[in-house]
Amino acid sequence: MHYVIIGNGVAGTTAAETLRKADSECRITLLDDEPYPLYNRIALPRVLKQTTLPERTIIRQLAWHTANRIDLLLETTVTQVNTEAKTVATNTGTVFQYDKLLIASGGCPNPLRVPGAAGTAGIYNFQTLDDTKAIMARVERVRAAVTVGGSFIAYELAEAFRHRGLPTTWLIRGPRFLHRLIDEDGGALIDRLAHDVGVETHYGEQVAEVHTDSGELAGVTTESGKRFDCDLLGVGVGLTLRTEFLRHTPIEVRTGVMTNEYLETNVPDVYAAGDVAEFYDVYIGMHHQMGTWNNAAAHGRTAAVNMLGGRQAYTEVPYYTSTMFDSQMAAIGTTSDVRQDMEALTRVDMDARVYRRLFFLEGRLAGAVLVGDIRVRRQLMNFIKERIVLPPEERRKLLAI
Ligand SMILES: Cc1cc2nc3c(=O)[nH]c(=O)nc-3n(C[C@H](O)[C@H](O)[C@H](O)COP(=O)(O)OP(=O)(O)OC[C@H]3O[C@@H](n4cnc5c(N)ncnc54)[C@H](O)[C@@H]3O)c2cc1C
Repeated sequence: MHYVIIGNGVAGTTAAETLRKADSECRITLLDDEPYPLYNRIALPRVLKQTTLPERTIIRQLAWHTANRIDLLLETTVTQVNTEAKTVATNTGTVFQYDKLLIASGGCPNPLRVPGAAGTAGIYNFQTLDDTKAIMARVERVRAAVTVGGSFIAYELAEAFRHRGLPTTWLIRGPRFLHRLIDEDGGALIDRLAHDVGVETHYGEQVAEVHTDSGELAGVTTESGKRFDCDLLGVGVGLTLRTEFLRHTPIEVRTGVMTNEYLETNVPDVYAAGDVAEFYDVYIGMHHQMGTWNNAAAHGRTAAVNMLGGRQAYTEVPYYTSTMFDSQMAAIGTTSDVRQDMEALTRVDMDARVYRRLFFLEGRLAGAVLVGDIRVRRQLMNFIKERIVLPPEERRKLLAI
């Protein structure tokens, strides 16, 4: 049995590990276009802040692949899948025949597409270890930073630039950070947390143009005509999921690769996992795409179990935890960015810097956003898993536990 996996991130590597544990005889080929074995993407902000070293992020050394007989091919780009011939072609000219295929190719960050941006040094996405190394080299010799975008990546960049002592401005197109997830009070609290550490925030601002001076990045102008000088520009304006090698295949792709709850695509023997999978989420009864580490790892495990012939539905409650400047934040389960028809209950304490927003679907707790105090997240996850219908007064009580 030959398993081919596209993507050596946490989804692909966890799948490879699960396959090897269950089947000592099978052949496993893991293909990735980056030059490193699995590293911890969620540690990259710490690398940027110099609280950890780049080499400490590597969590599977090449020796591990050798010991587990996983054929890892780095700096190898998959260019085309053929589901009739059951082959995967790469840019190196090699064609692999698969029995079962896992697509775990994640996403590629969107560049800033405005006049003056293309080819200007000093503008960075933040997705890979190499992006991190490049930003670090620049941070040493700049005077002011601007971060663009309403994503967690834009937040991580703003936080890290400020941590490195740079005057930092964060430009967000929407009315607040995560405006589909949190209400005005939540936005005001996060704004306060940003200001507490000295990050300047501007909402309703979209970059219209990048300026250079003698070929060097000099600043940006927004659509409202405001100019912000900077010699470092961090961009967090979303990901495009990597499915380009599936063109000319019958595999259904919308935003990501469509799967059922078993992470099977519509084509036999082809599965998808991690960021790239637009999977059927049994909790909400609809398709869903997640961009979190735990989800990707759990997807990798479930997909492998099913590739081995099992029948395991993916039923994890998704969650995301992150620093929020000097505070913390957690998003659990289904939140209002995924379904807008949910009942939301909110509690905020500005002085204590605490915010809690709970989402209910037909009386059942479906999701939550926590800022400041995130200790109740496990308890809330259990409520989500139990799917108990709560009367209105019980729902309110959850705001206070
Ligand atoms: C800076 C940063 C901070 C983050 N912080 C958090 C956090 O705090 N908490 C959290 O839960 N999540 C966080 N995330 C998100 C999390 O890292 C991702 O959800 C997770 O790593 C996705 O794993 P994956 O295996 O699905 O995809 P990826 O890790 O993206 O791996 C996919 C791999 O496939 C490769 N690939 C793609 N196409 C091809 C091709 N055609 N040929 C060969 N190889 C290909 C890619 O180069 C990549 O190496 C963060 C992400 C970043 C970038």
